[in-house]
Amino acid sequence: MPASDKTPPARSTPVRTTGPARTQVRPATEGWTQKKDAEGRPLLQFASPKRGKPPVHLADMTPEERIAKVKELGLPGFRAKQLSTHYFTHYTSDPAHMTDLPAEQREELVGGMLPPLMTEVRRLTTDRGDTIKFLWRLHDGALVESVLMRYPGRITLCVSSQAGCGMNCPFCATGQAGLTRNMSTAEIVEQIVRANRAIADGELGGKRASDHSMERVSNIVFMGMGEPLANYKRVMDAVRVMVAPQPNGLGMSARGITVSTVGLVPAIRKLADENIPVTFALSLHAPDDQLRDELIPVNSRWKVDEALDAAREYFEKTGRRVSIEYALIKDMNDHAWRADLLAEKLNARGRGWVHVNPIPLNPTPGSIWTSSDVDVQNEFVRRLNDAGIPTTLRDTRGKEIDGACGQLVATTEDEAAAAAMA
Ligand code: SF4
Repeated sequence: MPASDKTPPARSTPVRTTGPARTQVRPATEGWTQKKDAEGRPLLQFASPKRGKPPVHLADMTPEERIAKVKELGLPGFRAKQLSTHYFTHYTSDPAHMTDLPAEQREELVGGMLPPLMTEVRRLTTDRGDTIKFLWRLHDGALVESVLMRYPGRITLCVSSQAGCGMNCPFCATGQAGLTRNMSTAEIVEQIVRANRAIADGELGGKRASDHSMERVSNIVFMGMGEPLANYKRVMDAVRVMVAPQPNGLGMSARGITVSTVGLVPAIRKLADENIPVTFALSLHAPDDQLRDELIPVNSRWKVDEALDAAREYFEKTGRRVSIEYALIKDMNDHAWRADLLAEKLNARGRGWVHVNPIPLNPTPGSIWTSSDVDVQNEFVRRLNDAGIPTTLRDTRGKEIDGACGQLVATTEDEAAAAAMA
């Protein structure tokens, strides 16, 4: 829908493009060189490089396929449901725990249906123990991470959807090495099952002593490694497994699942047609193409207005309010006029359809990728709120252990630890 067709703002929003001169820091990589294409633009990688496929797992199959596979292994179809219950309800793949399966065929059945997908290489835990960052090694040695966080009233897992990433954002450690490969549906789901196992084993801290409830992951954010919409089919199949009622899936609420993207417009449109009411988040980080072209290279394919139009369409089709993610970076994208421009662009597309989550970066002395001053952050938020856009600064808990979105990367140490385990 062209912007001119949109509902006009309920009240005019002053746009200040001039004013006291503020420094404009331009995006640039630090300590690494961005790969470029033949035209000298940052290289974008959409296709997953060919690598050995991960083993096929129960979570990759539909319930019907699970029954067929169990029969193929020489057992009656109802065993598929028992296996699904062990995996999706008890979070186990250990044959020793499956005493309801015939002892003589148990190993073979479990080996065929629940093959090992990932090995825990290491975990980092905050002092309070209420945040855990897991580093996983996949069957082919690729490393991915997930971050488990306890908040009041919810437990959130930030999951990876790709090993590496092909979007080449200059601020992002994950993108540096490019895309290693797409993760399979089961590899995405396994991150949740393993997190649920850790919670069931009492490994996530912060639970009140008086609370004896059974806990599990309630919220998923696809803000770990990778661009989820670049691995569309497997991510959506994983979402279907997450929302399928137990024992065929994890029985989670779609509303608690946030799918985020840097702006792959055709995939946003496809997502809107799926009829699964997930929360949709657009990582915008700049309202003007001039800056966003450099900050988010995929902007060279789909511009700010196209991404916002697709986000608005998502709201229209699903009725779900869209989140705009905006990392505030000192003197790069935190100018007051950018807050005004963002408000203008959002209001031009109607009211009540969107909220903005500015994300303060960590202070990093000497880096251009550092946090905005607190008064600048507050001014940015105030301007959006005053223009009628609900805006809240986001919690950046994961950053305490270097696990927040866009910072997920396997360090050399992690690589060494994985190699030692191989
Ligand atoms: S910020 Fe996200 S989309 Fe960009 S390179 Fe990093 S993981 Fe990929």
